Amino acid sequence: MKIEILKADITEIHVDAIVNAANTSLLGGGGVDGAIHRKGGKVILDECIQIRNKQGGCKVGEAVITTAGNLPSKYVIHTVGPVWNGDKEEKKNLLAACYQNSLELAVENNIKTIAFPGISTGIYHFPKDKAAEIAIKTVLNFDKISEIEKVIFVCFDDESYKIYNDLLEKIDKK
Ligand code: ADP
Repeated sequence: MKIEILKADITEIHVDAIVNAANTSLLGGGGVDGAIHRKGGKVILDECIQIRNKQGGCKVGEAVITTAGNLPSKYVIHTVGPVWNGDKEEKKNLLAACYQNSLELAVENNIKTIAFPGISTGIYHFPKDKAAEIAIKTVLNFDKISEIEKVIFVCFDDESYKIYNDLLEKIDKK
């Protein structure tokens, strides 16, 4: 498995699946969620509504999958990150669960290349450095990671891009 760090808009990435930082309603929202629904078109929202009707949305830490409408990827994996409200172990575990459950869905759907945004690091206020550490650790420790060919961490700002690069450099040197 190869890790790549890109400074980019996740809606423009050509991979099997991009991950959406959704909310529990699955009905779309701001940030990356808004961008994915805007560019992906109605197909994604229709599939989200079907899932919502079946199972009542998506819980924090869990993930669901839809096709990707007009986006260049094949699938969108929607996961719901925790809202940060102080340094709590529970929140870190829930963020790790987002990455873990997204990867599980990826393997189940034969997805070989996957791009993650910084889940919870926007409107949900998770500190970017802590979130990046959890993201990288969870990916590297995923038991079926050999079934994935490439994981891209998509950074939307220079600060995140530097955090991911610094963390990966540290891991390489170990
Ligand atoms: P959350 O509610 O989980 O915090 P947000 O969408 O507010 O989700 O933010 C998650 C991260 O995604 C933030 O770091 C934000 O800068 C980033 N982001 C926003 N739009 C995009 C985009 N189009 N592509 C990639 N990352 C994005």
